[in-house]
Amino acid sequence: MTDPATTDTAMTDPARPTPSPVPPARQPADRDLLRDVDPGDRWLVVVAHPDDESFGCGSLIAHAAVRGAHVTVACATRGEAGEPSEPVDGGDLGAVREAELRRAAARLGAARVELLDYRDSGFDGDLAPGALCAAPVHAVAAVLHRLARDLRPHVAVVLDGSDGHRDHRHVRVAAREAVRRLGAGGPRLYEHCLPASLMRRWLEETSGRRGDDAYHALDAAGLGRPDAEVTDVLDVADVLDRREAAMAEHRSQGSPFDGLGDELRRAFLTTDHLARVHLPVVTWREPAEAVPAAAYWDLGQARWRPWPDAAGHAASAGAFA
Ligand SMILES: [Zn+2]
Repeated sequence: MTDPATTDTAMTDPARPTPSPVPPARQPADRDLLRDVDPGDRWLVVVAHPDDESFGCGSLIAHAAVRGAHVTVACATRGEAGEPSEPVDGGDLGAVREAELRRAAARLGAARVELLDYRDSGFDGDLAPGALCAAPVHAVAAVLHRLARDLRPHVAVVLDGSDGHRDHRHVRVAAREAVRRLGAGGPRLYEHCLPASLMRRWLEETSGRRGDDAYHALDAAGLGRPDAEVTDVLDVADVLDRREAAMAEHRSQGSPFDGLGDELRRAFLTTDHLARVHLPVVTWREPAEAVPAAAYWDLGQARWRPWPDAAGHAASAGAFA
């Protein structure tokens, strides 16, 4: 028996509504992929620790997810070096934080979470075997490259590391290299920024209350991304509820936004600042020199740089870690 829907009669039946023509797929090249998200767009968000996806760029993940994007969060570590607000059940902080990450990612609407299985390097001090910063950037980049090659993301996002945490900066450089290896078919890469102007306000507003933490010992000029480098400012107020719910899942960690006045808190949580990264076409060469114990590979300058580097970011424990 013939399916009536496939016959000419059925197709020309005046009682049947004429199907609207299927619009042609919109090519990523024709779109502002940040603001004009299409269902089915693939996003890859690369972070160093559980909570970076929520305290760092949670609104951006939710913004993409609610518009139908398939968002994968790749997290390099389980955040074992984080400082829990109170002792965790069973004493396995990594397991607790991985569970928090998975719950938070679900709150944001992310479809998938991938752990890269490095250990949290901590803010400073010697690196344990398996620590993220003990792995050369090209090795971390190779892991991310394999993942991105499988996922074929349209958009890749990484935190810009301007809070000075060595893991954030290490994974940022590795993400850049991974995307660069994908060549012309790779995703559009954005760095999620903490603008220097906002970080100055954060320092001013919190100096009385939290003046004893290492951030307040820093030169404010060295904290945050120069505002002039921000290429995209995105209003993400519509997903604030999801962001709040995701941040609340990270019960083992203090929020960097706790105790802020309403105006500054909203400035952090309802607006995202991004820098589009245009990668240079360079050929990766294995560095001939030995990898220093605590260093990262600076792609721009093509050399190993020690932690902390010359940009004025003293090694310190961080509220944005
Ligand atoms: Zn972090």
